[in-house]
Amino acid sequence: MRKPVIAGNWKMYKLLDEAVQTALALKPLVANANHCDVIIAPVFTALKTVADRLEGSNLRVSGQDCSTQSDFGAHTGEVTAGMLKDVGCQYVIIAHSERRQFYAETDESANRKVRAALVAGIRPIYCIGELLSEREAGRAESVVETQLNGGLQGLTPADMERIIIAYEPVWAIGTGKTATPEQAQEMHAHIRRTIVSAHDAVTADGMRILYGGSVKPDNIATLMSQEDVDGALVGGASLVAQDFARIVNYR
Ligand code: PEP
Repeated sequence: MRKPVIAGNWKMYKLLDEAVQTALALKPLVANANHCDVIIAPVFTALKTVADRLEGSNLRVSGQDCSTQSDFGAHTGEVTAGMLKDVGCQYVIIAHSERRQFYAETDESANRKVRAALVAGIRPIYCIGELLSEREAGRAESVVETQLNGGLQGLTPADMERIIIAYEPVWAIGTGKTATPEQAQEMHAHIRRTIVSAHDAVTADGMRILYGGSVKPDNIATLMSQEDVDGALVGGASLVAQDFARIVNYR
C-alpha cells in the first residue's frame, strides 16, 4: 500500500506574513487528513518561520530546490540540502520544469541534487515531464524515461525508497489544461515499468508517483482513482488554503 502524497508548490509567491497566514489557515483544515502525507513548499525565506509555526502538526515543509553541493563553500546564492533540513524541511523539490526551462537544470545536475538531498537526510521530490511538442511527436514516454534514468542514475533501491517522483507534463502546468486521468495513468504505469527495469518490481511498487499539472479541487478525485497515481504536486491551487485543503481532503 502506497500512502498518497499531496504537495503544494508555492513557487515564487507570498511574502513571509502571507506564507505564515496561509500555512496557519491550512493547518486545521487538513488536521484529520491521515490518508495522505501533506507537504507545502514555500519560498526559501519563509521556510524556517513556516516550519516553526507548523511544528506538531501533520503538515510537512519542503524546499523548492537545493544546491548540487553538500558542503559549505564559496557558492554565492546556493542553499544546501543540509541547510534546508536545518530550518525544518523534510523534503525538497528537484528539477521542477520551470528550473529545467529557465534555470538550466539538467538530468545530470538533478542527479547531483537528488544525491545531495539523500546525503542530508531529506526526501527528494524529483520532477519529470514532457513538453507539448514532445508529446505531439510521440516522444513523451522516451523523454520521461530519459529524465527518470538520468536524474536517478546510480541510486540504490534503498535510495529509491526515499524518493518521490512527480510526473508533470509541461503543457499542463499553470495552463488549466490537465492530463486526462487515462493519460496520467498511462504515463505513471510507464514510469513504474521503467523503475522495474532499472531496479526491481518491489522497489517500483513501493514508489510514490505524483501527478502535477493544473490539479484542482474538482479533478483531484478522478486523478486519484487511477491505480498508479499516488498523489499530486499542486501549483496554483495550493496558494489558497481552502482550495488546497479540498484537494488534500479529496475523499
Ligand atoms: C507545479 O507548479 O508544479 C504545478 C503543477 O502547477 P499548477 O498546479 O499551477 O499547474
